[in-house]
Amino acid sequence: MAKILIVEDNALNIKLFCDLLAAHGHQPEAVTDSRNALDAAREFSPDLVITDIQLPHVSGLELIRLIRNDEQLGQVPIMAVTAYSTSEDEERIRAAGAQAYVSKPISVVRFAETVDELLAGKDEPALSDAPSSPRT
Ligand code: MN
Repeated sequence: MAKILIVEDNALNIKLFCDLLAAHGHQPEAVTDSRNALDAAREFSPDLVITDIQLPHVSGLELIRLIRNDEQLGQVPIMAVTAYSTSEDEERIRAAGAQAYVSKPISVVRFAETVDELLAGKDEPALSDAPSSPRT
């Protein structure tokens, strides 16, 4: 079981991610407002952070940088989940400090595999595969 913080402004995605993670035996906690994400992460002390990129207020890229530069959270693996899908977008996300990238609409298999890899300490090797879930 791992503690996983989800930062996502879309309620349907929050439910999907939380259900998936709980089904895999993890303990998910969701933050809807990215302005609260850093404080929530400090308090929750997650084993993994999953963040949307397109967020109002504090963008996912900004949040990734904030987490990377945080004394307590700097080493926590980060998985970005985003509708952005070009290799340039992926480069920006990785440059900000995320280890993995899964594109929306997510493939639930890919999502779960990437979570497992990050929790096991492995970086995701390549851009995610073709999506299979409905776009929300
Ligand atoms: Mn969003």
